[in-house]
Amino acid sequence: MPETTAPPRKFTLQEYKTDVHVDWCPGCGDFGILSSIQQAFVQLQIPPHRIAMISGIGCSGKTPHYLDTYGLHTLHGRALPVATGARLANHELTVVAVGGDGDGYGIGAGYFVNSGRRNVDMTYIVFNNGVYGLTKGQASPTLGKGLKTKSMPEASIQEGVNPVAVALGAGYSWIGRGYALDVKQLVSLIVQAISHKGTAFLDVFQTCPVYNDLRTKDWYAGEDIGRARLRRLEADPGWDPVVTDPNSIDEMIEKKTRALRASYETADGLAVGLFYKVDLPTYDDQLAAKVPALRQQPLVKLPLYNRNVEPLFDELG
Ligand code: SF4
Repeated sequence: MPETTAPPRKFTLQEYKTDVHVDWCPGCGDFGILSSIQQAFVQLQIPPHRIAMISGIGCSGKTPHYLDTYGLHTLHGRALPVATGARLANHELTVVAVGGDGDGYGIGAGYFVNSGRRNVDMTYIVFNNGVYGLTKGQASPTLGKGLKTKSMPEASIQEGVNPVAVALGAGYSWIGRGYALDVKQLVSLIVQAISHKGTAFLDVFQTCPVYNDLRTKDWYAGEDIGRARLRRLEADPGWDPVVTDPNSIDEMIEKKTRALRASYETADGLAVGLFYKVDLPTYDDQLAAKVPALRQQPLVKLPLYNRNVEPLFDELG
């Protein structure tokens, strides 16, 4: 009799969901992002117990509550350092950090920059709606100059941050932008981001119908101008965001320059899709080269206690 092996068990969408009540406001773009993350996990078939979702503070900070994976709801702006620690402690985990634009580009701006150059193998998804939704809609770092949402007494007199431009300068090795209400494309981008080896950064335009009455579903659809404001980068003739030779500074500069230009809002609208990708050594791999035991098992499983530290004290003494 030929030997038969049972087909591998498939994880279902339901297995990534919790029964915690999702208490975002009706119509919030966060629903589209949550659904996209869950669908991406199904596509990738990552076992829920191998995933760590890490969030900061804000409406988006609740995301780990709604995913039946490991998760940590941390402090304001601190999702990235905690995610970095989680991944370095256990490189068998798929680590996904999530946060809002105020959380990540305001309070956590220093972490945002330094996570780009470090290139730990993890993903960072930002729910970008231009306001601090949880605290009643104050202008966030991405709200442009001259804009006034219904929650503001006066128009903003500061320029908005361009997160993709910052990410290019910071050194992120995978940079994308999606739209919360285009779940099909967003699932594809999240799958690509998680599959990338290195830190992947995904900025997501997210509608906050309660406090941001400017960047609405109708605005993105271009109801007032008769054509969609969002355009897909892959539809641009000759668009090629992938660096083929990571040792070529000329190719990296050329592709970053194109990505930078594409990241701004122009008469053609706002671009979504993959802006930039390069394969570079990860922090994880470089650490494992220095600490060979990490190639056998993650730090969390190494026998770190009861070590003889006498030789170290002798050396320092
Ligand atoms: Fe969503 Fe805005 Fe409500 Fe927060 S305040 S849950 S971002 S609609």
